[in-house]
Amino acid sequence: MFPAAVSFEEFCSLFQREKDCMRVLFESKWPDGFRCPKCAHTHAYMITTRTLPLYQCSSCDAQTSLIASTIFQGTRTPLRLWFQAIYLHARPEGVNALQLSRIIKVTYKTAWLICHKLRHAMQKQNEEEFLTGVIRITDAKLCTRTTASSAWHQQEQSVLVGASVDEQGQVTRLKIQKQNKQLLKNRYESPPTEPFIREHLDRTVTEPPIISRNYFGKRDYLLLGLAQKAQQRLADIFRGVGEKHLQVYLDQFCYAWNRRSQSIFEQLLRACAVTSTITYPQLIGRHVNRTQLVPWTATFNKTGISKAS
Ligand SMILES: [Zn+2]
Repeated sequence: MFPAAVSFEEFCSLFQREKDCMRVLFESKWPDGFRCPKCAHTHAYMITTRTLPLYQCSSCDAQTSLIASTIFQGTRTPLRLWFQAIYLHARPEGVNALQLSRIIKVTYKTAWLICHKLRHAMQKQNEEEFLTGVIRITDAKLCTRTTASSAWHQQEQSVLVGASVDEQGQVTRLKIQKQNKQLLKNRYESPPTEPFIREHLDRTVTEPPIISRNYFGKRDYLLLGLAQKAQQRLADIFRGVGEKHLQVYLDQFCYAWNRRSQSIFEQLLRACAVTSTITYPQLIGRHVNRTQLVPWTATFNKTGISKAS
């Protein structure tokens, strides 16, 4: 698509025209050519009287646009600015909404919304990727305070960290999930791991995960170190994150961590092209406690996890 190591300035000049962005977005959305969302027909007529072209299926006449059912649906921001935002999010150093608003010259609210929509695409992508092979899980605290007390500090967050680990002891896939600390008796109690296992382990996994607890028994310093890295990153880029949106920021961290040796731009653009958007009211109405306890048990057998309610 473009040389991986281009600078931001070079990137902007490569994608300064909307039609170049449209071409690349088309290839990302329909890598095998146009496909009608209604009847899967592969030929369409292009109607170019609007800012963004419309595609009219030559079989069923259904019309669809390039940004329908994508993260960009309904946007009034030019695609070239979206592309710049994706580029900046794909960089290892990351970007926050204030920085983005200054760099691409949009209002803070627009930048905030773009950042959250990109995170939403990353989150949806993460949801399709499961932990496989040898899996380790531990609970951890983010923003741990130093004074010893069993009472929760307002900013302290309980999370579960799960990872697939290869034979060399390297983490090949990471998941961090915020836990509902209101359901825990005190800050030393570990949250139940069954909901995490149910949600994040591949169904082909036959070996039970190795579960460590933060305050009791042998600690998993590899995973605790990753939780600390996530916390540091949230502090460095976003100056800390409130409880309400914490999960998407953790998902963003895991998304980048799981692709740390790859070029993220094309993957993130693809995620944006196949993910339906999230609206501003949906974003601000997001529930604080995403993880609720559900009564179920997971047991492991030779054919994988059986998930009985
Ligand atoms: Zn059709």
